[in-house]
Amino acid sequence: MRRILIVGAGQAGLQLALGLQSNGYDVTVMTNRTADEVRDGRVMSTQCMFDTALQHERDLGINFWEDETPRVEGLGVSVAGPDSSRVIDWVGVLDGYAQSVDQRLKMAGWLETFAQRGGQVVVHGVAVSDLDYLARTYDLVLVAAGKGELVSMFGRDASRSPYEAPQRALAVSYVHGLGPRPEHDFKAVRCNLVPGVGELFVIPSLTTSGPCDILFWEGIPGGPLDVFDQVKDPSEHLRLTLELMKTFTPWEYDRARNGVELTDAGATLAGRYAPVVRNPIGELPSGGLVLGVADVVVANDPITGQGSNNAARCAAVYLAAILAHGDKPFDRDFLQAAFDRYWADAQHVTKWTNAMLGPPPEHVLNLIGAAGQLPPVAHRFANGFNNPADFEHWFYDPELAGAYLASVTPQS
Ligand SMILES: Cc1cc2nc3c(=O)[nH]c(=O)nc-3n(C[C@H](O)[C@H](O)[C@H](O)COP(=O)(O)OP(=O)(O)OC[C@H]3O[C@@H](n4cnc5c(N)ncnc54)[C@H](O)[C@@H]3O)c2cc1C
Repeated sequence: MRRILIVGAGQAGLQLALGLQSNGYDVTVMTNRTADEVRDGRVMSTQCMFDTALQHERDLGINFWEDETPRVEGLGVSVAGPDSSRVIDWVGVLDGYAQSVDQRLKMAGWLETFAQRGGQVVVHGVAVSDLDYLARTYDLVLVAAGKGELVSMFGRDASRSPYEAPQRALAVSYVHGLGPRPEHDFKAVRCNLVPGVGELFVIPSLTTSGPCDILFWEGIPGGPLDVFDQVKDPSEHLRLTLELMKTFTPWEYDRARNGVELTDAGATLAGRYAPVVRNPIGELPSGGLVLGVADVVVANDPITGQGSNNAARCAAVYLAAILAHGDKPFDRDFLQAAFDRYWADAQHVTKWTNAMLGPPPEHVLNLIGAAGQLPPVAHRFANGFNNPADFEHWFYDPELAGAYLASVTPQS
């Protein structure tokens, strides 16, 4: 039986571990926190996942929370004017629903399932020196430890990493009590763009205390939203979040007027990181090779909500590659080919996400504006979150964008 070590118990590490385990591999997961510590800890993400990524979980039968999690059937975009009025507002319907399951719930549950099914779990914060030793006793070592210090083993790929510094300051609050959305009777993720300032995302989710909403500010560094780093008190974090909503997105604040409260003591998160693509193969001091997974190798800003989707894609691609490889050695060629297959998808996410971080060019402003009058444009933009490769055909290039708009504009 082939022995595989996975470092990290997040979306990618655990999806891959459960998939390999159900195919008869001898899998060990090393992680720095127990399931209870994860469940009782701080929120880590907003983790909205779209249909294709959710399907990878369904394929493995690990979609344990699907029935109780709110179904996100649309994706809306609003743009604030200089006077904080809502100058653009539309919603595109998703062909397949999206869902967000609090990673504290999902990762704790998956880790326990993996152990109950006979998987080995070692709770230990892994250092490079540990890997040097461990790599000799496994057929394959996968590093799925997110954006932590183990990324130092994987060199930055400057040709694929246009930004050297964080492009947004992130501030998340999970709340109960947000009023229903007045515009439509289905649930939607709302992207509220405040030009020159940042974005507010409102995301229906399932947390440890049931359904909730997530308020997620992405602030341009140094701007008026970049005020959360020093805030240690969760209630002050929520107060600031609401105050900024009142100032910049009053239509979203209206939903909070009847009083919202944090879902629990760990319901807030603030931070920032630079988007980066890394070389996928890490070389250990004694010559062993390890393969980077998901955020370790491709970490995008969450402005497009793609990291967990990418993690699910990466786990699915690596699982298929490992199964197809049979008993052959996991050599450098295998590791590189597995990553290349993943990058074939992930490159589209990186291109789109990095584009959304910059000021939008005129043709993108036209597209976002036109989506209010042209439902096919709203539909296509919304469903691009599930398939970012589609943006290649109509979004980046002014000519392609113009031709597309002309093709969906009714002739008078
Ligand atoms: C504020 C915010 C909002 C986001 N919103 C979305 C969204 O809406 N949709 C979306 O798709 N993505 C979103 N993301 C991104 C998404 O959360 C990540 O991309 C995704 O969780 C990456 O999965 P992963 O498995 O690669 O890593 P992680 O989820 O980071 O898991 C890494 C695991 O490794 C463990 N670990 C770390 N270091 C060590 C070590 N040295 N030894 C042992 N274990 C270790 C950690 O404890 C953890 O279990 C968001 C991210 C942030 C920060």
